[in-house]
Amino acid sequence: MDTVSNPLLFNPGYCTSLTEYKRRQTITVKIGDIPMGSEYPIRVQSMTTIDTLDTQGSVEQTIRMVESGCEYVRITAPSIKEAENLENIRRELRLRGFNVPLIADIHFTPNAAELAARLVEKVRINPGNYADKKRFETIDYTDASYQAELGRIREKFLPLIKICKEYGTAMRIGTNHGSLSDRILSRYGDTPLGMVESALEFLRICEDENYYNIVISMKASNTQVMVQAYRLLVQKLAEEGLKPYPLHLGVTEAGEAEDGRIKSAVGIGTLLEDGLGDTVRVSLTEAPELEAPVAQALIQRYTQRTEKAKPIKPVWMVPINPYQYHRRITHEVVNFGGQNVPRVIADFSKISDVEMADLKAIGHFYLPLLDKWKLNDTGADYVYSGKQPIPFMIANGSREIMDAQVWQAATDKQNTYPLFNGLDYLTATERHPQMNFVSLTYKEWQPEFIKRLQTDTTIVLWIKTGNEHAMAALRRLFFFLMEESITCPVVIWRDYAPSVSDEHTLLYASTDAGGLLLDGLGDGIILGTDQLSWKTKENALSKLTFLNQTAFGILQAARTRMSKTEYISCPSCGRTLFDLQDVTAMIRKRTDHLKGLKIGIMGCIVNGPGEMADADYGYVGSGVGKITLYRGQNVVKRSVPSEKALDELIELIREDGRWIDADAVETYS
Ligand code: SF4
Repeated sequence: MDTVSNPLLFNPGYCTSLTEYKRRQTITVKIGDIPMGSEYPIRVQSMTTIDTLDTQGSVEQTIRMVESGCEYVRITAPSIKEAENLENIRRELRLRGFNVPLIADIHFTPNAAELAARLVEKVRINPGNYADKKRFETIDYTDASYQAELGRIREKFLPLIKICKEYGTAMRIGTNHGSLSDRILSRYGDTPLGMVESALEFLRICEDENYYNIVISMKASNTQVMVQAYRLLVQKLAEEGLKPYPLHLGVTEAGEAEDGRIKSAVGIGTLLEDGLGDTVRVSLTEAPELEAPVAQALIQRYTQRTEKAKPIKPVWMVPINPYQYHRRITHEVVNFGGQNVPRVIADFSKISDVEMADLKAIGHFYLPLLDKWKLNDTGADYVYSGKQPIPFMIANGSREIMDAQVWQAATDKQNTYPLFNGLDYLTATERHPQMNFVSLTYKEWQPEFIKRLQTDTTIVLWIKTGNEHAMAALRRLFFFLMEESITCPVVIWRDYAPSVSDEHTLLYASTDAGGLLLDGLGDGIILGTDQLSWKTKENALSKLTFLNQTAFGILQAARTRMSKTEYISCPSCGRTLFDLQDVTAMIRKRTDHLKGLKIGIMGCIVNGPGEMADADYGYVGSGVGKITLYRGQNVVKRSVPSEKALDELIELIREDGRWIDADAVETYS
C-alpha cells in the first residue's frame, strides 16, 4: 500500500520531515563551473528574451542577468541556426570575462539539441515534445503498442544522451503541464501523475545508458498541480530506485507585477518549505533581470532556517493527501468554513480615529449621496478593530471583530464578534451566540481546550506562530485539529516585522499561507504588521491596502478564491512574436473587470497553447503581426491581424455570454 492510496497511514514519501526543515539530499549535477544539488546553495537562474540570432543583444542581456544574480542563463534554440549561434554568444561572454553556464532550451528539435549539447553546459528538453508532435488525439494503446512507442522515443533520444556523456553536458528533463504528449494524456490524463511519467520515460532511458547528469522540473501555471507533481516525482524516484536528482522549481506563466510574484511564491515557496528544490527560476512577464532578485528573496529565507527554527512536535500520521487537493472538512460558522470561500480579515487594530474614508484602503467605499456602502471585488470580508471599535456602521456585507473585553462593553453585540485570547475563552462570562473568534498558538493546545473545540460549534480559530519555520508550525496545528476530529474553521494569521520590506512580506506571506491553502488548510487569512513602521496614517492605510490586496492575491494564486481576472502570460523568450508586456497591459486594460476569467497571453504558437494549460481564452502569437485566438485548448480564429485581435477576443467572450461591460461593473477607487 503506498502513501497515495492510503495517506492516513504513512509519512508522505516526498520529504523526510514535515516539521523540521531539511533540504532533500540529491546527487550533484555538474553544470560548467557551478555544480547543482543539495551539497551546494540553491541556485538562481533565468532565461533571455532576445532573439538568439542577435548575438550582441543576447550577450548584453545575459550580462545584465548575471549582474542581477543569475547563476545559469537559459537561451532558446528553436532550430539549428539558433543552436549554432550559441557558440558565438558563449565565446563573446567568455571574452568579456563571464563564465556563466549556458543552457539551450529545446522544444521539438532533437537536431538543435544535439548540436547545442556540444556547445553549451546544459540542454533543457521538454519530454512532451522532444519525440512527439502534438495532434490533440486520444489514442487507445495496448501494452504492446505503448512499449513500441517507448522504443521509438529511445531511438530518438539516445544520440543526445551519447553526446551529453561525451561532452560532459548536463540535461534538464523539463516537463510542462501544458505540453504533455498525446501518448501521456491518453494513458494518464492531464494529471500530476502524467507529468511525472512524462519525465520518467526519458529518465529511465538515461539511467539505462548510465547517464546521470540530470536535473528535473515539473512546471505548471496551476500552483496546486505544480506542487503535487513535484512531490509525486520525488516519491516516484525513490519508489523506483532511481537517483535523487536535483529539482529545478518554477511556476510557468506566473504573469507580472505583484500577481506574478505571489503566484511564484505560492508554488515555489511551498516546495522550498519542505526542503525541495535545488535551483529556482521565477517566470515573470517582465525583463528577465527582474526575476533573479525575486528568486533570491525566496531562497534566502532558508539559509538559516535550521538554526533559527524552534522544534515542532514530529508528525507520525499525515492526515492529508499531499498529492491531491482536498479541503479540510469543517463545519460552517456564520460564513466561515463549510463550503464558503476563505475569508479575508483586514487588521485595523493599530489605526486610531478611523474615518469612513479610511475603509477605502480595504475596498469599502461609502457613497454619501446614496448613504450606502459598496464593496469592490477585493473588499475585505471582516474588519478587526482590536481595542478601538470602529465609531460608525460599516458596510452591510462585512462585519467587525474586536477584542473580547472591548466587545463585552460594546453597544451592538449582535453584529460584532469577539476575539478571545486563547484559553481566556474557557473562563469567559459572555460569548457570542453564533460566532466567537479564538486565537490559538502552540502553548494553548491543552486537553481542556481540545474538549471545548470538539463540542463548541461557534468557534473560529485564529492560528498564529512566532516560529521561524512558520508554515510547518501552523501546519502542525492543523494536523493536531485533524487528529482530534475538530472541524472548526481556521483563520491563518501572519504578522511580519516592520523591518521586513513590502516586497519580502509579499513573498513570505504567499509562501506561509499559500503552503497551507494548497493542501486545503485554512478558511480565512489575516495579514498584520506593526504600527512602528508607519510614520503617518496615510502610510498605515497604504500598508493596509497592500496587505488586503496580497491576501486576496494569495487566495487566487492558491486557486481557493477567484476575485479578479487571471492573466496567464508567458515570460517571453527568443521565440516571442510581440511585446508581451505592452500587449498584456493592453488586454488587461479592457478585461480586468471580468472577475474569475483566465486569459492566456502567449508569445508563440509553438509552446504557447500548451503552456497556457487551463486558461479559458488564449491570445497567442502565430506569425509576425498575427494572432490566433483560443477558447480553452481549441483554436477559434487563426491569423487575426494583431490590431484587430483584442476586439475579436472580446467578441468571442461576448458570444460565450461571459462578457460584462466595464461601466456596468460598479468599481470604486
Ligand atoms: S510561450 Fe512564450 S516563453 Fe514559451 S516559448 Fe513561446 S514565446 Fe517563449
